[in-house]
Amino acid sequence: MSKFWSPFVKDLVPYVPGEQPKLSKLVKLNTNENPYGPSPRAIAAMQAELNDNLRLYPDPNGERLKQAVADYYGVHPAQVFVGNGSDEVLAHAFHGLFQHAGPLLFPDISYSFYPVYCGLYGIAYETVALDERFQIDVANYNRPNGGIIFPNPNAPTGCLLALEAIERLLEANTESVVLVDEAYVDFGGESAIALVDRYPNLLVTQTLSKSRSLAGLRVGLAVGHPDLIEALERIKNSFNSYPLDRIAIAGAAAAFEDRAYFQQTCQQVIDSRERVVTAMQGLGFEVLPSAANFIFARHPQRDAASIAASLREQGVIVRHFKQPRIEQFLRITIGTPEQNQALLDALG
Ligand code: PMP
Repeated sequence: MSKFWSPFVKDLVPYVPGEQPKLSKLVKLNTNENPYGPSPRAIAAMQAELNDNLRLYPDPNGERLKQAVADYYGVHPAQVFVGNGSDEVLAHAFHGLFQHAGPLLFPDISYSFYPVYCGLYGIAYETVALDERFQIDVANYNRPNGGIIFPNPNAPTGCLLALEAIERLLEANTESVVLVDEAYVDFGGESAIALVDRYPNLLVTQTLSKSRSLAGLRVGLAVGHPDLIEALERIKNSFNSYPLDRIAIAGAAAAFEDRAYFQQTCQQVIDSRERVVTAMQGLGFEVLPSAANFIFARHPQRDAASIAASLREQGVIVRHFKQPRIEQFLRITIGTPEQNQALLDALG
């Protein structure tokens, strides 16, 4: 710590990202990447930018990508915001929409970046306990608040909240922003983007890191009422004039346009997930119902930290959180059939 630091930095507890190991031989099932590559159309679009256009500045508004997202979801481009990964989109949302008198509410077990953004932007927050089945109970959010945020499906549990429950939450909270973080929605969920035209306080964020297999490109987006989008644009334009580069805009737009490849690879991940769940249950694991590209599982007799250590020795890495109530769980990304088999062999 140095005397040169701004005072708030000394209290800042930064986010700890999942490990990105240098060894390529590992079966890497720890950060929920997609085991299949991005759409060939996305790769061709990125290659074309690389060949012809890097001399030029990108479009500061990423209009081509906004249009592709708007076409996909049947909304207006003015309802779409794009940024450098959904982490950045979330940062702008916290900064621009959640600094209010009341506390921000989010589940006690959810994305561990949320409290970090609260620290960064001086936002008071309260966590709301998941119920005994690790589900979000929307009735527990009906109290004065300065905003509500939760992942759907939730992370790291993978559990899905039905759209009808999200509507109940929105009906009961018309005076604050409700942000649904849909990083994993394409693996079995239904997007709340279908509700944005009815609820001006609803903001939905998504990422291209998971279902569209572009984690390395860093592209995320938000969809909501143009008023909410305008707040994000103001923050963005005050922060970085070119948040997305030309390659990212071209690749992400093409990935949205290639629906067939997207649907096929999502379905492959879903099918593999069901096979892994059945096999793990056969090994005695309890697996929470997952609508994501990962599962959250515990063994009634075996210690999660020891299992993770043993898997690592066998070349398989998974995620273990040392957090109360979930320290006996492992979060395991669904990989290729070969990777999943390596996991099951190692667990056996
Ligand atoms: N939200 C949730 C719930 C996540 O798990 C992640 C991935 N770590 C993100 C957002 C951020 O994803 P990205 O920045 O790659 O878009």
